Amino acid sequence: MSNNKIPMRRCVGCMTSKPKKELVRLVAADGRPRVDSAGKANGRGVYLCADVECLEKALKRNALTRGLSLSGLDGETKDIIRSEFAGNL
Ligand SMILES: [Zn+2]
Repeated sequence: MSNNKIPMRRCVGCMTSKPKKELVRLVAADGRPRVDSAGKANGRGVYLCADVECLEKALKRNALTRGLSLSGLDGETKDIIRSEFAGNL
C-alpha cells in the first residue's frame, strides 16, 4: 500500500483491511459487544465492514467474543447485536 496516511483496520468478518472510517467499531460493554457509533469508546475494539454479512461471518467464527475477550454470546444477545449493528449502517 502506498498511501500510509490512512489508518487501516481489519474487518474481523471478512478479514479485509479497509480505511478505519469505513468500518464499524464494536467494543465490549456489559458483557456483550456494542456498536461504538462515535468510534470513541475506551477499551479494546474490533472492526467490521458496514455489512451485515461481515457481522454474520464474525458471529460464526466467534471473532467478536475472541476479539473482545468475552465468554460467549447466546442467541438473544446475538439478535440484539444484529439489530444494533443494522441500525448503525
Ligand atoms: Zn468485512
